Order: sequence, then C-alpha cells, then structure tokens
Amino acid sequence: MSSLFEYDKDREAASAAKVRALEALLIKKGVLGSDSVDAVLRHFETVAGPFNGARIVARAWVDAEYKARLLEDTPKAIAELQFQGMTGAEGEHMKAVANSVTVHNLIICTLCSCYPWPVLGLPPYWYKDPVFRSRGVREPRAVLREFGVTIPEDKEVKVWDSSAQIRWFVIPERPAHSEHLNEEQLAALVTPEAMMGVALVPSPPPV
Ligand code: FE
Repeated sequence: MSSLFEYDKDREAASAAKVRALEALLIKKGVLGSDSVDAVLRHFETVAGPFNGARIVARAWVDAEYKARLLEDTPKAIAELQFQGMTGAEGEHMKAVANSVTVHNLIICTLCSCYPWPVLGLPPYWYKDPVFRSRGVREPRAVLREFGVTIPEDKEVKVWDSSAQIRWFVIPERPAHSEHLNEEQLAALVTPEAMMGVALVPSPPPV
C-alpha cells in the first residue's frame, strides 16, 4: 500500500480527541443527543458504505445487461438492487464509469471532497488533500504510480471531477482468474480504492 493511504497515528489520535471533546460539549449544550453521533456512525457502518458499491460492481461483472443499464442511468440501475438509504446526502446524481482494456478512470473532487456516500461511504482524508486534488488532475499517471498503479502508456486515463452536480464512481475491471467466483465472492474483492480508480482489483488466489 502506498504511503498516501496510511494514516499518521498521531494525527488520527488527535482528531479522535478533538471529536470526543466537541461531542461532549455539544451534548452538554443540548445541541446533540447522547446517541446522535452513534446513529450517524451506525448509518455509515450498515446503510451507506463501500459494501453497496462492491455489490453493484459485482452485479455489473456478472451481468453485462445490468452493467449497460448502470452506465446509462446509474441511479435507476442502483434502485434495482433495492438498497436502503440510496437517496440520502451526496447520493443525488451518482454516475458510474467503467474501466476497460483501453481506459482507466480516476475520480477526484478538485473543489472540495464531493463523493458518492451511499455507495462508497465517507471519503478517506487524502481525498480532501489539496495536493491530491490538484496533482490528480495535472499528472494522474504519476499520482496513480504513487498509489502502486502503473497504467500502460497506450491506455487512456480519464479524470472525473465530482461536484454537487455529479458524483462519480468507477466500475473496476473484473480481475483475471475470477471465473469460478460467485457474485458475493466477487463483491468481497472490490475495495473503495478500486472504485475511486486509485487501485486495481487483484486476481483471487488460485484454487
Ligand atoms: Fe466537493
């Protein structure tokens, strides 16, 4: 894993302490209920998260017609799977793009951190980093290399800028040697990073 994915332990501990202090203060002032933060966390653990995106990708891998519908009208195709919570914040105007033998897609938000929460959950901290946001657009191949992904020169790299209007996510390429896997096993291979375009989905271990 690239260092871009690694959290600085001090930074994480400091953020957690800040959040705890803020939560305690807001509860004391009566702004938040004692279970408000837990309810939000539960939402992102059980309703909105990359587990949804992984199921969508796996369905697209096993069903070419579903994939075509997903690319054509993403919200409508997602609705077919009947997840909960697909209409919540940051879930409006989601759009899928597919990696292929000729194209690799990278998603970014140059302005801030727009991200399709219902299918990918909350973005990692580096997604909001001004360096990632600007370099991702200027030199996507170099940034991808730092994430451990080398895109051949003859493959096109497309960068998609998420915004309040459209929030993109990537259907990665189905890995080689995955023919024997069922949809659920395929979904288990799909990471949030692959659906952002900063990672590929590796082949499963040989049987
Ligand atoms: Fe944004």
